Amino acid sequence: MAARTLRIGLIPGDGIGKEVIPAGRRLLEALPASLGLKFEFIDLKAGWETFEQQGVALPEETVSILKSDCDGALFGAVSSPTTAVKGYSSPIVALRKKLDLYANVRPVKTVVSAPKPIDMVIVRENTEDLYVKEEKTYDTPDGKVAEAIKRISQRASSRIATIAGEIALRRQKIRAAGAPSIHQGPLVTITHKSNVLSQTDGLFRVTAREALAAPQFKDAVAVEEQIVDSMVYKLFRQPEAYDVIVAPNLYGDILSDGAAALVGSLGLVPSANVGEGFAIGEPCHGSAPDIQGQGIANPIATLRSAALMLEFLNEEAAAAKIYAAVDANLEEGRLLSPDLGGTAKTEEVVQDILRRL
Ligand code: ATP
Ligand code: MG
Repeated sequence: MAARTLRIGLIPGDGIGKEVIPAGRRLLEALPASLGLKFEFIDLKAGWETFEQQGVALPEETVSILKSDCDGALFGAVSSPTTAVKGYSSPIVALRKKLDLYANVRPVKTVVSAPKPIDMVIVRENTEDLYVKEEKTYDTPDGKVAEAIKRISQRASSRIATIAGEIALRRQKIRAAGAPSIHQGPLVTITHKSNVLSQTDGLFRVTAREALAAPQFKDAVAVEEQIVDSMVYKLFRQPEAYDVIVAPNLYGDILSDGAAALVGSLGLVPSANVGEGFAIGEPCHGSAPDIQGQGIANPIATLRSAALMLEFLNEEAAAAKIYAAVDANLEEGRLLSPDLGGTAKTEEVVQDILRRL
């Protein structure tokens, strides 16, 4: 079998991004040759330090190389100034737009032996809803009024529901390949508030239902719906009930941070920004200035993000290997970083996981 070569852009960014992204690179390089994968890495710049050096947080070169030369990328974290700085805006937000990365995918998972095991993924629509940022403020006799547009389209709702269905099927495939799991079969939960917002969320709901009734999902994926407020309640009471959650942008944003809080450390939670044939793996945490430079950042969020990126590049076997190695490290609980109550350095955690590959 000829090896497939994947070209991966590496964007460490700032703070602990510079400590965890190299771990992601080493992980990919350490994957067994039997998987038939080769990697080429391209170092790319973005973030606050880049802004200070070049006057832009996301150089054109970074975007064009990602577009023309890369199959995927790993993005670390960027520090943002606490108050608005002229000319600075978040590079990852810009990247999502420029590369049309329409889905934000965030798996939240504990080990199977945890007292209350969790294994869910939140699939958040990433291009519209209230985040179209069309706001205005005007004066009335009673004082100022501010308004924002919430835009929901059939196209965006359909493609996010479709990718949620695909993710549900793929998770089932990875489970079937032997990964221990708390779920019986694939389930997608559509989240909305269409009892109040009958047109916008109503369109999301109906469109998602239609997309998930397509032949490839019809008999294979169970579909349910839940109103977002009761979803939050159940998410905290009974998180084990969820497999794949699909949500419009705002609810997805809130749910995914809430869900991340269920697993104990931001250092464990990965994400991927996904478009047509392209994915950027990105740990959910930020640049963590409080621990930067100490060599104690938990690399697991990044390692899982690398696996997630591989899933979207259709390399499920490689992804499954990484998940298994990470889970084994956590199950054993011997080499854990300080955020998990251990004393291991980033390097020791990485070594332990690479050894398990
Ligand atoms: P930023 O503005 O870049 O988001 P922040 O100060 O909000 O920075 P975060 O990176 O969001 O910091 O992290 C929040 C908290 O979680 C910090 O106390 C940080 O040390 C901790 N944390 C985040 N990521 C990790 C990690 N990978 N390993 C260990 N601790 C982490
Ligand atoms: Mg933060």
